[in-house]
Amino acid sequence: MNNLDPFLCITLVFIAYFILLIIIKKFNIGKKISCKNCDNCCPYCEEALERIKRLKKDYLFNYLTFQMFDFKRYKCMNCAWEGLKWGKPFSGNF
Ligand SMILES: [Zn+2]
Repeated sequence: MNNLDPFLCITLVFIAYFILLIIIKKFNIGKKISCKNCDNCCPYCEEALERIKRLKKDYLFNYLTFQMFDFKRYKCMNCAWEGLKWGKPFSGNF
């Protein structure tokens, strides 16, 4: 097998990564979940999530996803679930 052009490799990886991001967005993976109690509830116990301060890695994560999602960090006060959720993205036409 021939050696792949490194530039081509990087381009392909970048395209694959971008497609992955679009798939995540299309399937609403990691998006806020709404239930009868509130419009942003815990994925496990359906209690309302509390907004907490973002960590440094969260800013990095937003940067790495080209700020397509605007992830924010939330915590459940009922079952201690903690994680990132995205709601209204900056650019919504994907
Ligand atoms: Zn919970």
